[in-house]
Amino acid sequence: MTIDLRNQVALVTGAGRGIGSEIAMSLANAGAKVALCARTEANLQSVAETIRASGGDCFAVPTDVSDSAAVDMLMNAVMERWGRLDILVNNAGITRDMLLLRMKEEDWDAVLQVNLKGAFLCTRSALKPMLKQRFGRIVNVTSVIGLTGNAGQANYAASKAALIAFTKSVAVEVGSRGITCNAIAPGFIETDMTAGLSDELKQKALERIPLGRLGLSKEVANGVLFLSSEMAAYITGQTLVVDGGLTTGL
Ligand code: NAP
Repeated sequence: MTIDLRNQVALVTGAGRGIGSEIAMSLANAGAKVALCARTEANLQSVAETIRASGGDCFAVPTDVSDSAAVDMLMNAVMERWGRLDILVNNAGITRDMLLLRMKEEDWDAVLQVNLKGAFLCTRSALKPMLKQRFGRIVNVTSVIGLTGNAGQANYAASKAALIAFTKSVAVEVGSRGITCNAIAPGFIETDMTAGLSDELKQKALERIPLGRLGLSKEVANGVLFLSSEMAAYITGQTLVVDGGLTTGL
């Protein structure tokens, strides 16, 4: 499957490491110019160097996606540099796990602010150029936890389930203007986010995954690449599950 994104401009949030950096590199390898966003500049610069080393065009804009003014500045920077935005990947996400009775209000708020409000702010801002262009591809990175729920992750599960409903609503609102909006739901992927899980939890997860292993960031990035491409032109409002079969047998 060859995907050609030359002459397209993409913005990837949470692109400093893990799944987001892999998505950014995959879009750049397919020819897209890529704007990279996360809060930590050093991480973004190292991803940017990797992309440039393989001939890609990119720039880094340190941004907190839950800050409305910062998101508008991010979008202005993209427009000033490249004058258009074709692909938005809302990937930035955090966890603050705790059983509900002991969950702090600030941990509830933090997760909803980044995972849900961040996607809202970036999408609202990105829609302006996309509506003018009458073209756009929006991909929201949700999670299988948004489909199944999980003990200790009520805040995260709620944010990711809401992101799926958000995806469907945006798809319906802007479909007539040539813009698609889809979600991708990874299962257990080897990143910093899952590195902190205990061996026991990882072992339990492995036993429930029909393909018998954790997923790779690259395997999520492949799905994002597909949803961003011409091949997915007639797909909108959907959630693509990339979980090695984890949720299939549930
Ligand atoms: P990760 O390794 O923790 O990376 C998260 C990225 O998001 C980092 O670059 C981080 O950079 C950025 N970020 C966090 N808060 C931000 C904010 N307020 N504004 C801008 N950027 C922010 O996570 P990951 O495992 O790659 O996960 C990426 C996405 O996939 C998340 O949405 C996650 O929920 C989802 N997901 C992951 C898994 C998994 O197994 N790993 C499974 C299902 C879904 P800074 O901290 O520097 O801002």
